Amino acid sequence: MAEINPFEMVVSRIDAVCDKLNVKEAYRLRLGNCEQELIVHFPVKMDDGTVKVFTGYRVHHNDSRGPAKGGLRYYPDVTLDETKALAALMTLKTAVLNIPYGGAKGAVACDPSAMSQNELERLTRRYTNEISPLIGPGKDIPAPDIGTNPQVMAWIMDTYSMSKGYPVLGVVTGKPIVIGGSRGRLKATGRGCMINARLAAKHLGIVLNGATVAVQGFGNVGSAVARLLEAREGCRVIAISDVKGGIYNENGLDVGAVFSYSQQTGSVVDFKNGENITNAELLALPCDILIPAAIEDQIVKANAANIKARIIVEGANAPTTPEADKILNDNGVFVVPDILANAGGVIVSYFEWVQGLQAFFWSEDEVNHQLQVIMDNAFLEVLQMSQQVRWHQKVDMRNAAYMLAVKRVADAMETRGIFP
Ligand code: NAD
Repeated sequence: MAEINPFEMVVSRIDAVCDKLNVKEAYRLRLGNCEQELIVHFPVKMDDGTVKVFTGYRVHHNDSRGPAKGGLRYYPDVTLDETKALAALMTLKTAVLNIPYGGAKGAVACDPSAMSQNELERLTRRYTNEISPLIGPGKDIPAPDIGTNPQVMAWIMDTYSMSKGYPVLGVVTGKPIVIGGSRGRLKATGRGCMINARLAAKHLGIVLNGATVAVQGFGNVGSAVARLLEAREGCRVIAISDVKGGIYNENGLDVGAVFSYSQQTGSVVDFKNGENITNAELLALPCDILIPAAIEDQIVKANAANIKARIIVEGANAPTTPEADKILNDNGVFVVPDILANAGGVIVSYFEWVQGLQAFFWSEDEVNHQLQVIMDNAFLEVLQMSQQVRWHQKVDMRNAAYMLAVKRVADAMETRGIFP
């Protein structure tokens, strides 16, 4: 249960940095609201012949710096406020990275694990049609998030292209490579988390080789970052969890074997070389790096004091509440905030969009190299912002990232002026 409304939570953080930066009231007001909020209720024929009505959302938070960009989530209890919060985070995320986008998000309240592929395809195509006034390569570009994947992006691209009468590669990112997806996109968010873990460890003087890691959530983000930290940095991944529970082995789990096992059984639970633990136990484990990579509101006032990790890399969006932030700060935990930590996906989505618009595709090495360049630079800029003496007291990485982002979006609004 969220401690406060998710959109209000993001806005309260934006407000706090507006105060610090003396941002004009007009820009604070604009950042405190979403530019467009579309709610759709639409019918889908189910395989058994019945018809169900689903509710979906598409929200544009702010497009001052470029077309709105943001994922599409299929999850049972999504709400408009959650979608608005995630759209606002996208505005901030693209600004921290300095890539030319605004922020958007979409969602459909459904349980994709309980639906057939045919049902998911019909739902996706109808939802695409419903939100078509908002999306387009120069307007708003969806991408995968919880419960969606490259196949869902392919259906969106095809449906949108049918309505135009020609293939439109730039309308979504995270597509399969065969229809204009980018090499490196699938693991990009996990790779970005790895880069942030590496930079945070270097900053704190922690040697990654042999460092212990706990990962909550073993989907696209969690599985990629766990594998990369194990294979490339020599980390010991001691715990992994998913929605059904977690597993622990103090000597380190074989992440590849856990992945194969969870693909076969649908969960990491009962993996033979580990002992079962709960998600709550995983979060409280002594470890060097904790990576929440599941859903929001996992580190809250009630459990923040139990966290023993030295670094938190927020793979998930909004896993930590403001009250928990304060406790973590007081306890000296170094938090790499979501809008920086999990931005690898939107960086490579940006590359995919550019490649699609130019119809010219890059090698995986080129993609990974450019991802690293943008991420290294963003981490450094946030760190420098957090250390500027003119703030009089130390600013944590989240506030520093928000400050950098809000300043960039406010500057864009100021420069563009107000129509008419
Ligand atoms: P996913 O659907 O591939 O995986 C989600 C994982 O979290 C699964 O292992 C699931 O079992 C687990 N999970 C779900 N509810 C849980 C709960 N209550 N407790 C514990 N585990 C739970 O999703 P994903 O794409 O990996 O996204 C994970 C997080 O990362 C989300 O917050 C998402 O917004 C964020 N994110 C994803 C991307 C991306 O490129 N996929 C980019 C940026 C941020």
